[in-house]
Amino acid sequence: MAPDNGAAESVVNAMTIDVEDYFHVSVFDGILPRSAWDTMESRVCRNTERLLDIFSEHEVRATFFVLGWVAQRFPDLVRTIAGRGHEIASHGYAHRLIYDQTPAAFRDDVRRAKGLLEETGGRRVLGYRAPSYSITPRSLWALDILLEEGYRYDSSIFPIRHDRYGIPVSQREPYIIERNAGTLFEVPGSTTTLGPLNLPIAGGGYFRILPYWWTRWGIARVNRLEGRPAVFYLHPWEIDPEQPQLPAGKLSSFRHYRNLDCTESRLRRLLGDFKFGTVEALVDDVRRHVAHDGLSLPYCW
Ligand SMILES: [Zn+2]
Repeated sequence: MAPDNGAAESVVNAMTIDVEDYFHVSVFDGILPRSAWDTMESRVCRNTERLLDIFSEHEVRATFFVLGWVAQRFPDLVRTIAGRGHEIASHGYAHRLIYDQTPAAFRDDVRRAKGLLEETGGRRVLGYRAPSYSITPRSLWALDILLEEGYRYDSSIFPIRHDRYGIPVSQREPYIIERNAGTLFEVPGSTTTLGPLNLPIAGGGYFRILPYWWTRWGIARVNRLEGRPAVFYLHPWEIDPEQPQLPAGKLSSFRHYRNLDCTESRLRRLLGDFKFGTVEALVDDVRRHVAHDGLSLPYCW
């Protein structure tokens, strides 16, 4: 069936990858101590290289939010991503949920990651995405620290209800956050609305577990009805059905392991159905649009 894109065909959406290994995922925090990470079989390089090949086939440039822990152990991977024309951004260093850290520990984490990524990738890092989207009402202080540490955009505030993350009343479209420390551009993961609810449409478990038509319909709706780009996200381990299985609760196992074997083919389909680029390009585009039309972006806080 042909995608129902209509006027959406010219919109360039953002493709984002959170570069981490299968054992870094927050649901395994209570099962696998951080001290054991170095003993695990790492699969992040081969899975990320596979994604790079898929993006090359479709001539797509993406934003890779790389975990500092990964960059430190596999600097060649960061150089390869950057060398193939993609944007390097930061996923922090140690994949700790922000609201479980002190502000001082968070500052150390994002500073360390940014330093490593800039040194390795050879370009300034502008963007940040928190582990498990963990900027919530109790960790808004993180926004000031991101600005003070030189980040210019963030993609960590999901405008949905979820047991671990989300600010359901936050804005669904890209927006500016004015803080004492400056102005941060927020680029939320994409949602669609159903009555009073914001429902996630574009990435991760929502992409793997729900049928493909949900993502395709949702992105086309954001592009066509709202005239905006969507922001899609995925992890390298989500195209790896051979990854070692870790013991987790029923819900966590379902969320992590469901449909790993068909995600790569879905991703190829998605890349055929829509256009994608980097978050940096999306932010530049919105800023240009605002300057040209003399509009102000919606903002809160
Ligand atoms: Zn992550």
